[in-house]
Amino acid sequence: MYSISKKINILKQAPIAKNFFSNVEMTRLAVTQFTCCDCGHENSIEIIPYESGFPIFQIYNEDIVLSKGELLQNKIVTETSNSMLHFGALTVSNLPTLYFGTDCQSCHSKYFCVFSYGEKQPGLTVLQISGIWKYE
Ligand SMILES: [Zn+2]
Repeated sequence: MYSISKKINILKQAPIAKNFFSNVEMTRLAVTQFTCCDCGHENSIEIIPYESGFPIFQIYNEDIVLSKGELLQNKIVTETSNSMLHFGALTVSNLPTLYFGTDCQSCHSKYFCVFSYGEKQPGLTVLQISGIWKYE
């Protein structure tokens, strides 16, 4: 997992095995797999709450990596409802939203993954992966 600081182009979304985890399914970390669009290799990703990922704000801040429009058009995030704006203008399901970059272990194509993690309602903490996209 790495952060991204230069302009990227989103190419296409890769299939992901599981994109939603609730607190009962996830004690220490969430594990899922995505299938590389180029070579078909099944890559494992592990997300550790409060450790994995970087704030999505770093992506759309001043349109450095992607513009807000590109994030919305690709349905990577949605506009945050007014009561949750403290999590930022763009989020996944109005929860704190993070991203990371990763590479296909087989062909080294580059991927961009976005997820949110937080308390959806009292006692229910969820981790939702918006998706994983190939980029260049
Ligand atoms: Zn690949």
